[in-house]
Amino acid sequence: MAERTIVTRGNPILTKVCRPVTEFNDKLHTLLDDMQQTLTKNDGYGLAAPQVGILRRVVVLLDEEEQMVELVNPEITATSGSEVDYEGCLSVPNMYGLVERPTEASVRAQDRNGAYFEFTGHGTTARCICHELEHLDGHLFVEHTDRLVTGEEMDRERQAKEEAEAKEHARRQQRAKEQRAREQLHSSKKKGKRRK
Ligand SMILES: [Zn+2]
Repeated sequence: MAERTIVTRGNPILTKVCRPVTEFNDKLHTLLDDMQQTLTKNDGYGLAAPQVGILRRVVVLLDEEEQMVELVNPEITATSGSEVDYEGCLSVPNMYGLVERPTEASVRAQDRNGAYFEFTGHGTTARCICHELEHLDGHLFVEHTDRLVTGEEMDRERQAKEEAEAKEHARRQQRAKEQRAREQLHSSKKKGKRRK
């Protein structure tokens, strides 16, 4: 196994359509092993073969249990839901953008020996499936967003959003508490009237 060099945005390799894998041989196995190592070393969620300069339809990614999944010749068979969240890419270092993706995505793919299987990902894994498969057709996530931020800006914006949501939650709870207090007052007044 060897870590491979990641190709970054601007390199025309990332804009090419990849060819299907037709031979499930040692060369493919070495590529998959190297891609796994490269993904782990770079602390990513997913990696597509063109990102290491190979124009073949091969992807490795982490599922919800952080287990490595190898997808050879993957095709999306179904998607559902929708969520806007920040997304990044090992080929676009330290830049993130808000991208709308499905919350569930299913693929049909082949394993390293050519056997077909189905795989369904949720949340970040669904996002990752869509992102990685786009690489195989020469597309990058930056095409889906008109604003890129740095990792630090993303963290700040995420924190601000969480704080705003926490404030809104507290406001709603306070309103509900006041409403309950008003209702109790109202019903005790009514009861009082009835007793007279
Ligand atoms: Zn990417």
